[in-house]
Amino acid sequence: MLIMNPIDLTRRLVALKTMNPPGQERDCAKFLGALFEKSGFKTRYLEFAQARTCLIAWTDVRVCTGIGGQGEQRPVCFSGHLDTVPLGVIPWSRDPFSGSIEGDKLYGLGTSDMKGGVAAMVTAALRAARASHGKANMMLILSAGEEAGCQGASFLAQADQHLPPVGALVVGEPTLNYPCIAHKGVIWLDAQADGLAAHASVPDKGINAIYKAARAILRLQAFSFPTPNNPILGAPTLNIGTIAGGNAINIVPERVTFAVDIRTIPGQSHAAIYRQVEDCLGVDARISNRRLDCPPVETDANHPWIQDVFGIMEPILKARPVPRGINYFTDASALVPALGNPPVIILGPGDLAHIHKTDEYCRVSNIEAAEEAYYQIMMKWGNN
Ligand SMILES: [Zn+2]
Repeated sequence: MLIMNPIDLTRRLVALKTMNPPGQERDCAKFLGALFEKSGFKTRYLEFAQARTCLIAWTDVRVCTGIGGQGEQRPVCFSGHLDTVPLGVIPWSRDPFSGSIEGDKLYGLGTSDMKGGVAAMVTAALRAARASHGKANMMLILSAGEEAGCQGASFLAQADQHLPPVGALVVGEPTLNYPCIAHKGVIWLDAQADGLAAHASVPDKGINAIYKAARAILRLQAFSFPTPNNPILGAPTLNIGTIAGGNAINIVPERVTFAVDIRTIPGQSHAAIYRQVEDCLGVDARISNRRLDCPPVETDANHPWIQDVFGIMEPILKARPVPRGINYFTDASALVPALGNPPVIILGPGDLAHIHKTDEYCRVSNIEAAEEAYYQIMMKWGNN
């Protein structure tokens, strides 16, 4: 069969709208699944909600049960997500779904985050399967619902989905093709300050929840985590992203809620962080909802496979990679424990500077370079 090049495939994927919300990744997953099936891959589709489809594809290298190779050698696994963020409020200067190419730039919603990376790993996998006569031992996990907090990956990681242990994991999120070996974890929580409503003309009869929230928020602004910086990821961070409260100008407000985003580093206990935040909120507010909790990811730079990948990337990047990390989180947080804690590289063609915004693009040359890097990683796996 004709194997698409990664640029054409990126454009096809961009045309399949998967804005999250609502996601609706099924058509995209089925389209890619059909490509895999025609090339001899096994596939499995798993939905965490209606049309919220994750795709797992793997080469059936050995007679095995369940997903992936369970013989003497574990597969190398590639991970990407099929959903994109919604369109922003600023109008695009191009059609966000046509995948127009201008010079080296391929424009479209999700090109950098991360349909360019997904296309590169899919075409690389089809090419590696053909070149190795089906012997390249690999698995691809293409998830739904990443942008809303790794929903698909978390669903796949549940024990009853029977993900197999893998030997290594590549996550194709945007790094401009730099092989990063760590990323931060995340905690999203809501905090709430409660007061007592009263008429604004008699404020001493009420308790003003806005004043309480303000005191708590200023303490959080000054909060510093009692942990040494990570040599690659630096310090953990905290940001208050939203606040809501009060009913009317002439009422003493009885409730304020605000949302806190914390980015964590390896070695921090998330349980301890919740306690530290509660202590900081004090009597003025409390944690009312834990929305998301994903651990950080980190692999030792001296791991032999990491050094293998650095060796593959050296001629592509024209410099030997050095250990680096990224601040955002990925599906790896959810997948790594379920896949048997493999070494992890985050490596994708997208550019963090151009994601989640109007006129998103990915460089054609970066998608092509990522495809070649993924191909070499797949072909080298098991052959050293
Ligand atoms: Zn992404």
